[in-house]
Amino acid sequence: TSPWPEAQAVVAGLGVSGFAAADGLMSLGARVVVLDESEAHADKATLLEHLDVTVRLGRGVTAELPPGTDLVVTSPGWRPTAPLLQQARAAGIPVWGETELAWRMQQPDRAIPWLGITGTNGKTTTTQMVESILRADGRKVAAVGNIGRPIVEAVLDDVEYDVFAVELSSFQLHWMNNVHLHSAVVLNLHEDHLEWYASEPDGMARYAADKAKIYDGVTDACVYNVDEPLTEEMVEGADVVEGARAIGFTTGIPDISMVGVVDDLIVDRAFVPQRRTSALELAKVSDVHPFAPHNVANAVAAAALTRSLGVAPRSVSEGLRNLHLAGHRISTVAVADGVTWVDDSKATNPHAADAAMQAYESFVWIAGGQAKGTSFDALVERFASRMRGAVVMGVDREMIADVLARHAPDVPVRVLDDTHTSVMDEVVALAGAMAGPGDTVLLSPGCASLDMFDGYADRGDRFVEAVNRYLS
Ligand code: ADP
Repeated sequence: TSPWPEAQAVVAGLGVSGFAAADGLMSLGARVVVLDESEAHADKATLLEHLDVTVRLGRGVTAELPPGTDLVVTSPGWRPTAPLLQQARAAGIPVWGETELAWRMQQPDRAIPWLGITGTNGKTTTTQMVESILRADGRKVAAVGNIGRPIVEAVLDDVEYDVFAVELSSFQLHWMNNVHLHSAVVLNLHEDHLEWYASEPDGMARYAADKAKIYDGVTDACVYNVDEPLTEEMVEGADVVEGARAIGFTTGIPDISMVGVVDDLIVDRAFVPQRRTSALELAKVSDVHPFAPHNVANAVAAAALTRSLGVAPRSVSEGLRNLHLAGHRISTVAVADGVTWVDDSKATNPHAADAAMQAYESFVWIAGGQAKGTSFDALVERFASRMRGAVVMGVDREMIADVLARHAPDVPVRVLDDTHTSVMDEVVALAGAMAGPGDTVLLSPGCASLDMFDGYADRGDRFVEAVNRYLS
């Protein structure tokens, strides 16, 4: 019998996943109360009220846990220190994220493998690669989680999927405890979201600990980044199911138990018969697009995850070739007068900007926004010699301008004090004036965008529009 009908569940936060959680819990017969301090989602509230969900919106509604609560499902955006969540924990009431809820909602007879993907950067790209490879292999796959579609919704869907490709943020992992992923990867680990973790003494360690949780409970393959030893340590420290293996991914030559690159080929030395001494060819490096070293790394990781499910080698190359990556990730928007204009608005931390800068020899950097407590020193120091100029905007502009002055004193820098959205035309004109033939104008801000824009997509769209106006 289902445990849900007797349960009273509180859903904390009416975002995309909160809505799906409330809807899903209701459909299974639970009593549901949704709480959100903001009134921004009144339309969703009305929909839920029609389903007999109790919705309380507005200031102060999350101060007290409603009496009789058996379970709290929290939005990934909530701090663990939120009073409601602390009250729940103090009372011994379970607090789950939407991923955990989805896992427990799965019908045992319809349980399917989940492949988990996390990391500071490359999650969405790798999840899309995994999805595309599985599709090429004829599997019915849903890409879910942080990529945008709630997992609960896919679990309760009428479609009978064969496999889920689950993108997981550190926030989602924080609230996930009993899930058994078939295979999982931590792509990389660098500074980001330190503002979220700053309330705890060692923010970066907490961030790493949340990421490492992806390996707990894995049943088949813990895929780690050979070039980032910390990810291998995470696997060593993980509480995996007996028989699960550690599999490395690398853009270098793979040892045994690794997937990697030999010359211009992505090859498998992990999921091959034990007596086979040569590596198995999966794809050409040139199947990866847009081509950049970090995307080759993502592709190798995706190959390892999907090979753990036994996809055919040719499905890897076919999947990579078929892929249409989501926008705002090193996407070339124009080439004019020898200058290439690139929208990498999704680079919301210095490590992502680093990846983009590796891909271009000579560029004008458009930077700035919300730095979230991260440091830009190493980035600027490393790439100062490739910078023809820099245009800096957003709340943390002075900090970045300071870093440029210290580590790249010869690079001309323009700082825009106006934080209005319309500033993008000025940004583009200033950058265009500094770029010459052979240069790239690179919007790879290394910062979040919400100080000035509705999100990275809005920032990227406005950049593309401004570039088109500038060039016309
Ligand atoms: P996420 O979902 O983790 O934010 P995305 O795939 O959306 O990752 O890419 C985010 C940003 O990071 C983009 O600017 C992209 O070019 C860059 N990026 C993608 N993969 C990597 C990687 N493996 N290492 C570093 N940067 C990456």
